[in-house]
Amino acid sequence: MTIRLDHVLEPGSGKAVEVRRGEVVRVEQLEGGQCADFNAFNLHDYREFFHCGRTRVLHGMFPTAGDMLWSAPPRERPMFTIIADTAGINDLSFPRCTGVLFEYAWGYETHTNCQDILAEAEREYGLTPDDVHDSFNLWMNTKIDADTGRLSVERNTSQAGDYVELVAHFDCLVVVSVCGADVFNTSNFSLKPLRLAVRTATADERVEWLLPEARRFANQRVVEDFKIKEIRTERELSRDPTYVADFPGFPIRTTSVEVELTDDEYRQLEALRSHGGFGATDGEVLRHAFFTWCLDHWMQPHP
Ligand SMILES: [Zn+2]
Repeated sequence: MTIRLDHVLEPGSGKAVEVRRGEVVRVEQLEGGQCADFNAFNLHDYREFFHCGRTRVLHGMFPTAGDMLWSAPPRERPMFTIIADTAGINDLSFPRCTGVLFEYAWGYETHTNCQDILAEAEREYGLTPDDVHDSFNLWMNTKIDADTGRLSVERNTSQAGDYVELVAHFDCLVVVSVCGADVFNTSNFSLKPLRLAVRTATADERVEWLLPEARRFANQRVVEDFKIKEIRTERELSRDPTYVADFPGFPIRTTSVEVELTDDEYRQLEALRSHGGFGATDGEVLRHAFFTWCLDHWMQPHP
């Protein structure tokens, strides 16, 4: 195991680091109680980046050891697996904090914030403030009110020495900031340094965690599949007069299927229909029952 980078992230700062396939990026608490924001890009195609939404749906709002971080559609593939997480208080619901947030909520015209820190760190690799994306929030102790859907932040319970380690499944640029939210509960109302390190994975870790390089879904779209392959440089949008819509699989074709039910099955269907909430017609109720059964028996929630 070789440590390739060992860096102290001071409050108000961040760092962009290359993490190659099979390397492990580690973020560690030096004093405890500090939130960190995490961005990631494909090192060879920066338009592929970490996606909170897909990760949230596949692994829940609080990803921890064993869960994967996915890239955004249309690439949509595992970027990292979390291989260690000693505190287990990570969040995918809050966006990065911004200068505007501190300005409208508190009246500060100047305040350290993750948007500006991540942007400045990413600039080392030629990225702009527009390239900063919603972050994986390490050590952010959030709660969701099931009735109202409102989000809240609880006290940060991480301790000195707590760490999160992620193994990269392909070459990435990882960007980590010391979250600047000192006037919220996020980091217990003060800012503390963090340690950022990159090391090679051990042979055992590679066997246990690293996904095969070749795995690919047919529906992952890479640049070669795009009708427009260039990244646009003009900011103004204008209509392409030669455009002709060409939606994949359009128009949708439907086929009627006759389904025979036994007397007993039909009695159950009638019971569902009279109960209400499953559709108005025999066809709608049968469709609901069939696909609900399929969701339980056929769908693979964790590919
Ligand atoms: Zn922040």
